[in-house]
Amino acid sequence: MDILESVREAGDARTRYHRAMAGFFKALRAGLNGEPDVAEGDRFTAAGKVITCSHCAHDRFAEGHAQLNTAGMSFLNLDWANRSAATLACLRCGHIEWFLHDPDSAE
Ligand SMILES: [Zn+2]
Repeated sequence: MDILESVREAGDARTRYHRAMAGFFKALRAGLNGEPDVAEGDRFTAAGKVITCSHCAHDRFAEGHAQLNTAGMSFLNLDWANRSAATLACLRCGHIEWFLHDPDSAE
């Protein structure tokens, strides 16, 4: 691939990334404001149970992943666990639920 193609592809990837992030924050903001008609987010299950926000009981989340702090995990005696965790950000109140294993998508 020539240099122009590389530059163009990098630009496209950046644009897609910024659109995705803008969409996420817009959904989160709208969720925080309690507006109807926002991006609905997804429902998930863990251990066969639908996940609801432990703060507001909403069941729509934006999924993400976060690196775990190794020192913190040692302190918590969780060295056996993955070095990254799945995070579900509640689209209504913004509370983040953490899971050591990826939760399943629910319909
Ligand atoms: Zn919530």
